[in-house]
Amino acid sequence: MNISERIYVDNSATTQVSEAALMAMIPCFTENYGNPSAIYSFGQEAKKILEDSRVSAGKSIGARSSEIYFTSGGTESVNWAIHSVCERRNSKGRHIVSSEIEHNAVLKTLEKLVKQGYEVTLLKPDKYGQITPEQLDAAIRKDTILVSVMMANNVIGTVLRIKELSAVTRKRRVLFHTDAVQAVGHIPVNVRELGVDMLSMSAHKFHGPKGIGILFSKIPHIPAPYIAGGGQERGVRSGTENVPCIAGLAAALEESVEKLPESMAYLTKLRDNLIKQTLMIPGAYLTGDPQDRLPGHASFIFDGIGHSAYLINKLNDIGICASSGSACSASSKESQHVLKAIGIREALAVNSLRISLSSGNTEKEIDYINMKLPECISMLRKKHTL
Ligand code: PLP
Repeated sequence: MNISERIYVDNSATTQVSEAALMAMIPCFTENYGNPSAIYSFGQEAKKILEDSRVSAGKSIGARSSEIYFTSGGTESVNWAIHSVCERRNSKGRHIVSSEIEHNAVLKTLEKLVKQGYEVTLLKPDKYGQITPEQLDAAIRKDTILVSVMMANNVIGTVLRIKELSAVTRKRRVLFHTDAVQAVGHIPVNVRELGVDMLSMSAHKFHGPKGIGILFSKIPHIPAPYIAGGGQERGVRSGTENVPCIAGLAAALEESVEKLPESMAYLTKLRDNLIKQTLMIPGAYLTGDPQDRLPGHASFIFDGIGHSAYLINKLNDIGICASSGSACSASSKESQHVLKAIGIREALAVNSLRISLSSGNTEKEIDYINMKLPECISMLRKKHTL
């Protein structure tokens, strides 16, 4: 391996835009750049791309086009979902159930709501990051208006059993939202089979462009007016639609879903090889669910390396782009709440590493990581025990 090449293994942070997405986007910049709200045919051509993309994106997750709302990404979708339920259902109650391992898009939104008088119960996951239906059932109260539990965790790769959890909310007549930002395009996601009322997703996690996402809502009147203005997105999210990115999202999603069986098998093989080799390093531990985890996601903690930032810098020096567990902060702070929630003590939680793969990664790259990682760890251990 020529170390001047870059090995990108931080695909949970973001992914390369696929050829299919790029090809769908380019004509929207160069030819069909009309405003979809304009009534002349040039505008209506853009409108057709917008609505065809809505149909295609909906189909990819088992939804009707009327249930798809385009947003600026995962963070906005999550904020909008939670705020909407609060606005629409606050006459029923002001209690929300979520989990300790949610992304900050959820947790910070809930923190804001607590300041406004809402009550929040955060469920504690088991050591693998799983929440049980019994736990959820016990947490739901008469005044609970929303349950928001993520489908796949960004830090530890655990895939949560959303179908079992949504069965509880259906029985208890509470709305269920899932942050599926890390799941869509990586594992099968069908909103009907999952039984969710709302779902958030983001294109840049599945080889689409950044700054575009979807809020799925099964119930038409739930998405409350969020951005006021010209009345786009059925009057609830104004602003001229980002047609190029919407077309890119739909193309990337369609391709990811089509290739899912083959990409899941390929990534699982690469991931399992990486996990097996890494766990041969003394003092290395896998975090997250060993079975129910994202196909391309491997996450670890290592004894005695000082801090994950040292390891990430060492890997960077030899051309490997990995992270401590979250895209949202340069330090490992954002991943620590998840690691602590699954019972990892603070001194170890700062020593995390996340390697997240895409179909573009090769066996040769994994072999290179397998060869270099033990060397990096042992160099850091020598330095930090001196
Ligand atoms: N939710 C999860 C689980 C994520 O991993 C992320 C991004 O890393 C987000 C939400 C936010 O998505 P976006 O970057 O599109 O705002």
